Amino acid sequence: MEALALVEPGRVEVVERPDPVPAPSEVLVRMTGVGICGSDLSVFDGHREVPGTPWVLGHEGVGEIVALGSEVTGRRVGQRVVVEPNYCCFTCASCRAGFTSGCENRKIVGINVPGLLAERVAVPAPFAWPAPDGLATDELVCLEPYTVGAAASRRAGARPGQRALVVGTGSTGLLLVVHLVEAGLEVWFVEPTADRAEIAVELGARPFEDDDD
Ligand SMILES: [Zn+2]
Ligand SMILES: [Zn+2]
Repeated sequence: MEALALVEPGRVEVVERPDPVPAPSEVLVRMTGVGICGSDLSVFDGHREVPGTPWVLGHEGVGEIVALGSEVTGRRVGQRVVVEPNYCCFTCASCRAGFTSGCENRKIVGINVPGLLAERVAVPAPFAWPAPDGLATDELVCLEPYTVGAAASRRAGARPGQRALVVGTGSTGLLLVVHLVEAGLEVWFVEPTADRAEIAVELGARPFEDDDD
């Protein structure tokens, strides 16, 4: 199969890769859409180190299950799934304490294990989340960064009627704006880049001015 790989800083190429065979606890996903994240761009630029080249990029992906490992339950062939691209181990001290984001053995797709910009990828079944109907592929590729915003909103205890300030409206900040506006908050933002600020306004946020109270 083919995959898109970084061959040297600033240059990617389509490379041949052996077709992945799913382990007993994995599903094989035929990728249908993969987003490009800021962290992919820092790998592309050579600013973020990866284990070696050629290195397959990408971690924000959606696809369709085409095969199941022998022990997989709760997933089926033909199911559309979104990949959660941080595979925690569920067994280390952090995982057992519920801090799976602090997993000592965390596999970060596209950073320390090969990425999703490939025709097919073997994904641990618990990290291949069935996608809701009614969302298009290009919406589903935004789901992973959207959940980052949704988690920030949840942890901050965001409630309808509250006022929120989003500092920085890159893609994750913009998705946070979407989330907060939908949740019924009044949203302000600070953002030095004009085109990002313009999108934040389109999404229903207001630029914060120094004399706002
Ligand atoms: Zn990302
Ligand atoms: Zn762990």
